[in-house]
Amino acid sequence: TGNIPFNETSPYQIVRIFESPEFGRFLALNNMVMCTERDEFHYHEMIVHPVMQVHADPKRVLVIGGGDGGTVREVLKYPVEKVTMVEIDEAVVRASREFLPTMSCEFNNPKLDLRIADGIQYVKEIEEASFDIIIVDGSDPVGPAEGLFTADFYRNCMRALRPEGLLVTQGESPLFQEKAFTELNQCLKKIFGREQVRTLLFYAPSYPSGMWSHQVAVKGNINPAKDFSVEKARLFTKEKKLKYYSEKIHTAAFELPGFVKTMLKETDQAK
Ligand code: SAM
Repeated sequence: TGNIPFNETSPYQIVRIFESPEFGRFLALNNMVMCTERDEFHYHEMIVHPVMQVHADPKRVLVIGGGDGGTVREVLKYPVEKVTMVEIDEAVVRASREFLPTMSCEFNNPKLDLRIADGIQYVKEIEEASFDIIIVDGSDPVGPAEGLFTADFYRNCMRALRPEGLLVTQGESPLFQEKAFTELNQCLKKIFGREQVRTLLFYAPSYPSGMWSHQVAVKGNINPAKDFSVEKARLFTKEKKLKYYSEKIHTAAFELPGFVKTMLKETDQAK
């Protein structure tokens, strides 16, 4: 097999960096591929830009997890006041700093407040209405990330959101883990409201099945699939040279195949 430049067992998980001719370097946690140099932008652009384009003026952003840095890299393309990133495992941050420079490139940005802590605990203690956007960039619901898929956690996230705030979470896959995908969707709907939760799909070649989701919950009555400035999104996409997200992908990503709508017990999302 290829080279393994980083291989540590942290108190939370096995943290490894592999090198592959196909995908470049990639991060694996407990031998699950998290992000590869070649295609991480699919996931990171699609977890950040839909919600950041919908919100009128996002100033305070919270990222839970996101240890590789790809998510905060995308968030810091906006004129935010501050991004707080709460990652439980310093070994992931260290591995990314050392071996994934294209993802960890914003770790020294003065607008970033990077904390090594448990995101579950953090949202319990944070005062209400602290953030415009919350991004849950967690691993799969096993090990330290298990608690990132509970009603308690999302109730605390909702409390931490300002009015008109948006939450987006890595939403698992309708093909690969139907149970986790549907349970997370139902959990979010119970807390934010049936009409306040929408699912977007995107291609994730290095993930099992390649069909992946992010789930978006809004505080208020906005429709994240439609309520954004197409012109602003078009200009932003061009100016920042985005490679996956665009103003057209934004709306298309929220259109679900029939079998996924049935799975989520939704008739027609794009009202
Ligand atoms: N950005 C990645 C990708 O593109 O697939 C997503 C995975 S990211 C590496 C997931 C991160 O969530 C890991 O670094 C993991 O340590 C972190 N994490 C898991 N449970 C956590 C918790 N309870 N609080 C904070 N971070 C957590």
